[in-house]
Amino acid sequence: MTGTKQTRAGSAQSEEDELLVRMSEVPACASCATPGLLRVRFRHSWQNREGVQITGLRESLLCPGCSAGNEAAALVDYLSAHKDPMTECLEELGGMVAAWVESLRQEQVDERLLDDQHEQWVRGCL
Ligand SMILES: [Zn+2]
Repeated sequence: MTGTKQTRAGSAQSEEDELLVRMSEVPACASCATPGLLRVRFRHSWQNREGVQITGLRESLLCPGCSAGNEAAALVDYLSAHKDPMTECLEELGGMVAAWVESLRQEQVDERLLDDQHEQWVRGCL
């Protein structure tokens, strides 16, 4: 492996939307030890239980073994079919990565919903 290949994908409207994609020096999956295909780092924010907006960076690994989700599975298929997607069709890849990251953000929303419902359940409101 030579050097580090980094690119910015997606719509960089502001610092908040910054998305960093790495396709080299990608670690193995922590769950199943399969070599990862790519790694993304993106800004995200969520509300904690006190309703305070928390912002931070989140990093996710695309693992061909654990990618059961639709967006991730489509991206795995795409990367398997293209030898050098970074130079071949960067725009298309960027769109798929953005869709995957959006689905990751959606998971965060689901967790929040789960927390809210748990809180309601604890209070006996659910
Ligand atoms: Zn895995």
